[in-house]
Amino acid sequence: MPLLKLRKLQLSLLEWYDSEARVLPWRLQAAGSRDGYQVWLSEVLLQQTQVSRAILYFQNFLEAFPDVRALAAAPLEDVLKLWEGAGYYARARSLHRAAQIMAVRGLPSSFEAWLELPGVGRYTAAAIASLSANQAVAAVDGNVRRVLARLHNNPNPTESWLLETAQDWLFAARAGAWNEALIELGAVLCTPKKPRCSDCPLSSFCKANLEQTTSRVPAPKTRAKVKTIQALALIQFHADLVFLEQRPKKGLLGGLFGVPLMALNADAASTLEELGIPDAQFLGTVSHTMTHRQFEVVVYAIQSKRSDLVLAKNVALSRLDQKILALLQP
Ligand code: SF4
Repeated sequence: MPLLKLRKLQLSLLEWYDSEARVLPWRLQAAGSRDGYQVWLSEVLLQQTQVSRAILYFQNFLEAFPDVRALAAAPLEDVLKLWEGAGYYARARSLHRAAQIMAVRGLPSSFEAWLELPGVGRYTAAAIASLSANQAVAAVDGNVRRVLARLHNNPNPTESWLLETAQDWLFAARAGAWNEALIELGAVLCTPKKPRCSDCPLSSFCKANLEQTTSRVPAPKTRAKVKTIQALALIQFHADLVFLEQRPKKGLLGGLFGVPLMALNADAASTLEELGIPDAQFLGTVSHTMTHRQFEVVVYAIQSKRSDLVLAKNVALSRLDQKILALLQP
């Protein structure tokens, strides 16, 4: 695109962003000079959480841990508890580890330094560096991918094409605002289905709009197949107390406590027989989808005299475990 036309496009988008961007709790300061801790926190939350839910978590986290030192000093269990329900708990663990690094070294001052922290990938590092320090590095998330693909009418944008194009088009003087403007456009107007081209400040520049291909650009990604996992959950309880075991640190639900789950290779009755508890009581079944896995869990319960039973509401639990334990309620 000729430079003059690109300038017009950039100014049209920034003008729209300056007047129309949503006011969100992490956007209270101007893009480019925001508090790095708050930008980092919001970006980690937004990685897999919808904006409406991320707002609540962001506010709760800031209240509990107003700065990186407070977060670093907190026990991991407290962080996980506050993260409860946000899913993808590896993020909370990385958040805590990164806070501990930053409490010693200070907040990173560049894209490259942010990239070294656990849980911070290329997009997140670029977003933080541009929003907090106006560093001229393009942030490419799913929204930006869609907007750039449509502006160029490119149905199959590769990673390298996206990074190169985004960097070429970056408005360096307002790098943070530019990145956020593209993300915002993708989130509110240039949505995957039914983009609102008639309200879009870039409609006259957009090849997919002009050539009426928005419904086909970008082409849908092939989705990974969902794998079904059959499992048996055994709740050992006494009155309000239950037994919770800590899951292995790596893998799904890493490090979280939960109801013991075992793969169901045979039928539930044979498995219970093998465990020596054929009289465990059937409570129901739970279906739960998590990262390309569909859990189908049959839930049984048995009274227990173990001494290590705990009150489940005091422990950070995954949604799956919350669903399982809900079956125990009278
Ligand atoms: S004109 Fe339509 S397709 Fe093009 S960027 Fe705007 S909303 Fe997206």
